[in-house]
Amino acid sequence: MTTDVTIIGAGLGGLTLARVLHVHGIPATVYEAEASPTARTQGGMLDIHEDSGQPALEAAGLTDEFRGLVLEGRQAIRVLDRDGAVLFDKADDGTGGSPEVLRGELRQMLLGSLPANTIRWGHKVSGTRALGEGRHQVTFADGSTVTTGLLVGADGAWSRVRPLLSDATPEYIGMSAVETCLFDADTRHPASAKAVGGGSLFALAPGKGFLAHREKGGTLHTYVMLARPRDWFADIDFTDAAAATARIAQEFTGWAPELTALIADGDTAPVPRPLFGLPVEHRWDRVPGVTLLGDAAHLSLPNGEGANLAMYDAAELGKAIAAHPDDVETALTECEQAMFLRSAAAATEGTYVHELFYGDDTPHSLINMFTGGE
Ligand SMILES: Cc1cc2nc3c(=O)[nH]c(=O)nc-3n(C[C@H](O)[C@H](O)[C@H](O)COP(=O)(O)OP(=O)(O)OC[C@H]3O[C@@H](n4cnc5c(N)ncnc54)[C@H](O)[C@@H]3O)c2cc1C
Repeated sequence: MTTDVTIIGAGLGGLTLARVLHVHGIPATVYEAEASPTARTQGGMLDIHEDSGQPALEAAGLTDEFRGLVLEGRQAIRVLDRDGAVLFDKADDGTGGSPEVLRGELRQMLLGSLPANTIRWGHKVSGTRALGEGRHQVTFADGSTVTTGLLVGADGAWSRVRPLLSDATPEYIGMSAVETCLFDADTRHPASAKAVGGGSLFALAPGKGFLAHREKGGTLHTYVMLARPRDWFADIDFTDAAAATARIAQEFTGWAPELTALIADGDTAPVPRPLFGLPVEHRWDRVPGVTLLGDAAHLSLPNGEGANLAMYDAAELGKAIAAHPDDVETALTECEQAMFLRSAAAATEGTYVHELFYGDDTPHSLINMFTGGE
């Protein structure tokens, strides 16, 4: 390998790339905006798919470690209607192909698999510029710079690397999630704990509903989904947790109390997560010395694939660089062409799944999906 690899972003994508390169003896440096590995909590559970996340972890040589993180029983699925009646209930019989892990533990596993000093914490990229002949300069918020012969933007939705390749910017998809948790729920919130069951709960009506997961230690992690314009959320003062909670809960007046309790009795302040997407067919012409992966390349409607695809992109790129150490451009061309097809297909499917989840026929369309109906 004749060039240095600079990765922007220590999310699951950037870390998987650094790890796969390390497995092949190729050093890389990851620059991450956050100050430390514990700067922020890392969101809830992720199911790791057989055709994307799992092969990526295999390429990273971490399958055994990953298996050690799997939360048994969490592949159970329940669908409830707004009255709390159970419409669909599938136990986790151990045969499901998408084991659930905590995102924070998965990230920690990847961090622990890298040589010391691979990650440069507290390095927020403020700009990038082409220097010619495939080299780029990266500028950080503190004014410092690095130059590199291979720059990989794994810096998520608001990538600062993307402008080197594309003018696209994410657009609001018309829906936001509001995140909240109940702790020690079997004891403190037994009705909600029973409603969620052992794994995932879907209680959806057109344009709104609850997605909840049982995590470790009786924690119920909920995303309250609401199709409302950004202005509607902007009018809610989320610094006033009680008032914001009451305002969101009001949207579910008349729903079963064990469901509304997932927001109304939240043990954490509600956190709004506006959802954005890039165009489904987002792609770019090859620019020497730079590429993107994960959300930076193909942020899409939430479809349970984003983290899996970010890891898969990263593993494919790491393997391709290792296969073409003296011809990185060939590696990047191959990877980008395959990624464009893969991500467009996933985004198209995501649009369809989004309609099954939140369209006019939900929750019946959702149950059809789970039962393999039309
Ligand atoms: C509510 C919600 C639920 C989701 N659930 C799932 C799910 O169940 N399954 C699934 O597969 N996907 C899920 N996703 C999608 C998933 O979170 C993303 O697709 C995935 O995190 C993308 O990984 P990434 O590494 O590309 O980017 P990210 O995880 O966004 O990581 C980017 C990293 O870059 C850093 N960074 C950003 N800007 C800069 C900068 N300027 N300078 C330096 N560093 C920077 C960030 O701090 C971050 O560490 C969900 C998303 C949301 C919003």
